Amino acid sequence: MANKFELIPLPIWTKVNTHPFVIAGPCSAEGEEQVMSTVKEIVQHANGKVQMIRAGIWKPRTRPNSFEGVGEIGLPWVKNAGRAVGLPVMVEVANPEHVEAALKNDIDVLWVGARTAVSPFAIQEIADSLKGVDIPVLIKNPINPDLELWIGAVERFYQSGIKKLAVIHRGFSSYEKTVYRNQPMWEIPIELRRRYPEIPIIVDPSHMGGTRDLIYILSQQAMDMGFDGLMIESHIHPDKAWSDAKQQVTPERLGEILNALIVRQPKIPTNNLQPLQDLRSRIDRIDDYIIELLSERMGISEEIGELKKENGLAIHQAERWAQIVKRAVAKGKTGGLTEEFILKFFQQIHSESIVHQSKVMEK
Ligand code: PEP
Ligand code: MN
Repeated sequence: MANKFELIPLPIWTKVNTHPFVIAGPCSAEGEEQVMSTVKEIVQHANGKVQMIRAGIWKPRTRPNSFEGVGEIGLPWVKNAGRAVGLPVMVEVANPEHVEAALKNDIDVLWVGARTAVSPFAIQEIADSLKGVDIPVLIKNPINPDLELWIGAVERFYQSGIKKLAVIHRGFSSYEKTVYRNQPMWEIPIELRRRYPEIPIIVDPSHMGGTRDLIYILSQQAMDMGFDGLMIESHIHPDKAWSDAKQQVTPERLGEILNALIVRQPKIPTNNLQPLQDLRSRIDRIDDYIIELLSERMGISEEIGELKKENGLAIHQAERWAQIVKRAVAKGKTGGLTEEFILKFFQQIHSESIVHQSKVMEK
């Protein structure tokens, strides 16, 4: 299994001078005129900062009886709008019939949606239908935060011979309601980048935020993390959109967002910046301490494990755990650390500690 992708370099995905690669267009194609006027206005307001047009033709909806896309009839609308402004166009495909229709209509790029990315069978079918076809494919993250599943989807296309690949980070679904429609969980695309630096990462702030107020801030965060591009939903009359009305922005607002984005350009290579190097050395030293302290803590945990074993005590003692969390949260607050962080951090420490004690118990 390839653990490294040798992708055909795609200059089109990389930043254009100081700007990200931007894909924009309506959530759904609704009519010929809606697509054409949206696309023309996007180009008019975006000042050369939009490089590709998107539109959904087949819409995978979570619940039945909502608008499920106009279907194949919309493909020429999208293609013609792209031609009118001289930009490539992309649509979402979820099965081999969609692929066939998209190719027949000269669609330039395909993307796979979050609900499709969760199914290896569906992904394999789409990948198989693209054997021998030279077309770029963008793969959204699966709706659940599973990096392996996301990478697996990329591998399936890669093994089918598609070498022009990129991913779209659109956030992850969760049961709890948060301010986001899909939580960014930036650590997941950051880990993807660490493991496969050659895969371009486009961020979709529209499906992440779920409301238009969040688009700018999420786009800026994506830039600050060094991702390559943005996919933003824009509609000529967002409030009247047949799908995702709350998160779509007017082409005018899209232009404002793109103009306001700050894409930081390093003034000098970071390894020439002495103060940064010094601060990084201090961070490295602290990280070493943290690891040494954690090892020492696990050693004590093992001793406790011995005692528990001798005295017939269970590994997990709920009261003690509650006490640890309470102390740590209070202590964390005095140092400006959030309760959320302390909880997550100590849950990790606690589960590692249980692993160490279990080993002692099994002996
Ligand atoms: C979309 O981009 O319109 C879409 C359906 O997105 P997702 O697959 O991320 O939900
Ligand atoms: Mn949408």
